[in-house]
Amino acid sequence: MNLETSIQYVKGVGEARAKQFKKLGVETVGDLLFFFPRAYENWTPESSIHKAPLYTNCCIRAYIAEPPIVSRISGGRLLTKCSATDGETIMNLVFFNNPYIADKLIEGKEYLFYGKLSRNLYGGREMTSPRLGSVELAGKVRPVYHQTAALKSAVIENCVKNCFSSLKDLPETLPEYLISKYDLMPRYEALRQMHFPDNGDMLFKARRRLVFEELLIFRLALFLIREKGSENDGIALKKDYTDEYAQYLPFTLTNAQKKCIREIAADLSGTKPMNRLLQGDVGSGKTAVAAAAIYSCAKNGYQSALMAPTEVLAEQHYKTLLRLFEGTDLNICLLTGSKTAKEKRKAKESLALGETDIAVGTHALLQSDVEFKKLGLVITDEQHRFGVNQRAALAAKGDNPHVLVMSATPIPRTLALIVYGDLDVSVIDELPPGRQVIETYKVNSGYRQRIYRFIKKHLDEGRQAYIICPLIDSDEEEPADLIAAKELFEELSKGEFKNYKVGLLHGKMRPNEKNNTMRLFSEGEIQLLVSTVVVEVGVDVPNATVMVIENAEMFGLSQLHQLRGRIGRGKHKSTCILVSDDEGENAKQRFEVFCSTTDGFVIAEKDLELRGPGDFFGERQHGIPQFKIADIFTDSKSLYAAQKIAEGILSLDPRLQRAENRMLKESVDRLIADFQKAN
Ligand code: ADP
Ligand code: MG
Repeated sequence: MNLETSIQYVKGVGEARAKQFKKLGVETVGDLLFFFPRAYENWTPESSIHKAPLYTNCCIRAYIAEPPIVSRISGGRLLTKCSATDGETIMNLVFFNNPYIADKLIEGKEYLFYGKLSRNLYGGREMTSPRLGSVELAGKVRPVYHQTAALKSAVIENCVKNCFSSLKDLPETLPEYLISKYDLMPRYEALRQMHFPDNGDMLFKARRRLVFEELLIFRLALFLIREKGSENDGIALKKDYTDEYAQYLPFTLTNAQKKCIREIAADLSGTKPMNRLLQGDVGSGKTAVAAAAIYSCAKNGYQSALMAPTEVLAEQHYKTLLRLFEGTDLNICLLTGSKTAKEKRKAKESLALGETDIAVGTHALLQSDVEFKKLGLVITDEQHRFGVNQRAALAAKGDNPHVLVMSATPIPRTLALIVYGDLDVSVIDELPPGRQVIETYKVNSGYRQRIYRFIKKHLDEGRQAYIICPLIDSDEEEPADLIAAKELFEELSKGEFKNYKVGLLHGKMRPNEKNNTMRLFSEGEIQLLVSTVVVEVGVDVPNATVMVIENAEMFGLSQLHQLRGRIGRGKHKSTCILVSDDEGENAKQRFEVFCSTTDGFVIAEKDLELRGPGDFFGERQHGIPQFKIADIFTDSKSLYAAQKIAEGILSLDPRLQRAENRMLKESVDRLIADFQKAN
């Protein structure tokens, strides 16, 4: 058995389960070993029931004080109640529909209980549906995997365990000199500890080793790509027309926009192709900046292509550009999957002839029959939805065109310089004047009825609203109090909001279903949209003025910020409401920052500060680019370190040709090949 072996041959898997694993992207033994837990449960008991934190997961060591009482409640549900004590304080235990639990709760026997403590009506401590463990588990850290309905975390845990029993060791992938210099855990040991850590300290070291490797290879790859890129001859525009463009705009550019346009104009006039990231908060006016570059290219006789990740976004850009180029003689076309064959053919013909100056579209632009006469500029929006490879595939339709990447994820500038090592960075750090402030409040779940009244008031006034949930489906193994989009949609559309048009949006829907729902929402045909975080992708519905975020503690600060950017885009005042019962210190601080500012860069800095490397017990946030294990926020320090180490290695061995760097070269080549695999 090795890393390439099909998962099917792992003990406990077999054909049927292999199919279920495939849904999680796991097909080989290697995939499984790199399918890291999404979280860990820390089974280190609190010092006492009295001192344990409320409303956040914790582990309590206590013995059963009274035998359980079983009864039937409404809907025929089974209710099991009993009490446990640590010798000082009593804690009530409540279980629903668990017919086996009563037999386990033996008076006088000591257990570990894992779950959330709450205060009951009389001020006493209570835990609902805790997980039971024997006292031997004390101090252990247990893995929690992303699961599907068919494949539960516990089953995955078992398969990973079997995998490690048949695989006694793995070849090392880092040179010995790095392992000893930076005191890194060997590869096999690191992978094992990632799944079954002996304790928090070992987990930290395991993760450190894997993050080190991932970031180092990533940085080396970017350095080597960049080295190649600079050899190419680009298109130097003869004359700069960006000032002329400003005259056509219906508004005055902000200073930040002007600065970015100057930086871009300088690139466009150089012989080295531009490779620039344009970073700016939602609504900061990135499209207007990009339009200046498009205009200047067009006036010099070059075409531009703008690629967006979804049809709705492509349409949005198309409309914005039509508006921005009103009064000019530029021609724009829209190319998306849902255009008719005839429309597409026409658009392609005029692009090939050079009659169209700008092609806006989705992945449809990448198709081989889309040809440009003279492609000078490639722009991608919301870059984290595309791979480096797709950017390259689009650029390949021209002869070394300039490349501009737009991103609305505000990451601190210093960090961006490293993460986008192959790109120069321009930042729009200022919003256009006269923007509506968004008011943000944090409430607990006791306010739900009031929130619903508030939403109705806005819907009745003709506005629209979002409710964001952390889960798609409710899931018995998740803590019971997480709200799932599907269930909430069912409940609200049949109950509270039955007289309104309610829609549902989540990541498991097919792309055309998603597009359809988003279109209905942007056309006002859906008034209330119940959604998961999928809605965060640059969608512009100015009429939406309320956003409610359920279980707000489940989201990182930067993610909350992205979500909130969906409202406050029109002339009406907007309100964002965070709903959470989490009283933990970290959650509280995050909510405070979030309610007090809407500045994405301030939020990103705070996010970095509050998360810190110790935060890996929580859920991983989707960073950009997609690392297997590293997170650009929590691992920013490692990222800086990787930068320095990569520079050091390349200064001695610029092409990684020395024997001691053979393993690095292999990994780097593999990553570059991944980058460049078209589509
Ligand atoms: P982003 O893509 O950065 O989220 P957009 O480019 O879509 O932002 O701009 C958001 C809105 O602000 C658009 O309606 C745009 O026309 C407008 N806008 C852009 N720049 C300015 C400005 N300097 N002054 C006033 N309005 C602006
Ligand atoms: Mg935009």
